[in-house]
Amino acid sequence: MAISIDLTGKVALVTGSTRGIGLGIAQALASCGARVAVTGRDAAKAAAVAADLPGAQGFGCDVAVPAEVERLVGDVEKAFGSIDILVNNAGITRDNLMLRIKDDDWNAVIDANLRSAFVATRAASRGMMKRRWGRIINITSVVGLMGNKGQANYAASKAGMIGLTKSVAKELGSRNVLCNAIAPGFIATEMTDAMTPEAKAALTGSIPLERLGAVSDVAGAVAWLSSDLAAYVTGQVIVVDGGLAT
Ligand code: NDP
Repeated sequence: MAISIDLTGKVALVTGSTRGIGLGIAQALASCGARVAVTGRDAAKAAAVAADLPGAQGFGCDVAVPAEVERLVGDVEKAFGSIDILVNNAGITRDNLMLRIKDDDWNAVIDANLRSAFVATRAASRGMMKRRWGRIINITSVVGLMGNKGQANYAASKAGMIGLTKSVAKELGSRNVLCNAIAPGFIATEMTDAMTPEAKAALTGSIPLERLGAVSDVAGAVAWLSSDLAAYVTGQVIVVDGGLAT
């Protein structure tokens, strides 16, 4: 049996794909032949990133605003004809100890990370169900499995994505729409650049593979879940963390 990942003819919408993990996912899916909708808050930036990817197009959308997410899904379906693969990747942090988290910072994180995934999934899954083919991949975090001091809002949003993933998998499986989550550990991006060298060193010491993850470590898992190689996988959380949460 020959194995390769061929996504020719598939359309992928990757939220938050102007940089970091989302950009790596967009590049990986494009390299497998998918046409990718690159998105970020700034439409011009998304278009500039898309210009470097074959078959890609850029779209502006603030995922924290449900009406913008609904509009994005409609615009991408109009531009490409369908959405076959939805990657809910856009995410933010507003870290603080639980006692100090302001309501605004709680809501901002839940809206950008969790509600956005729900709204995008609800909108994009209609076409997937009709076509009897769809892949929804939610980028959660090991923090959603383990919790983390100073990240109660972020951890709650990421744990919520796991419940969303498992429920959607059960509701849409009969239509061949698969829904899985990927829980990265610490991946080297702008989000983790903010850590001090000391904090990074302490963290690396607790990772069995003794390094931060690379964007490509997560992108590879997304490509696999998007492909026919994962046609019998749904409702799962694939942990990509170098063994951190083991
Ligand atoms: P970055 O901060 O590097 O990139 C975030 C991306 O999301 C950017 O493309 C940004 O686009 C976009 N984005 C942020 N807010 C919004 C918004 N309101 N509307 C639309 N787009 C938005 O993050 P990472 O690449 O590190 O993280 C990507 C995902 O992976 C997140 O969900 C994060 O929680 C998760 N993750 C990351 C880990 C890590 O160690 N880095 C570990 C575990 C999970 P723009 O600024 O152009 O709008």
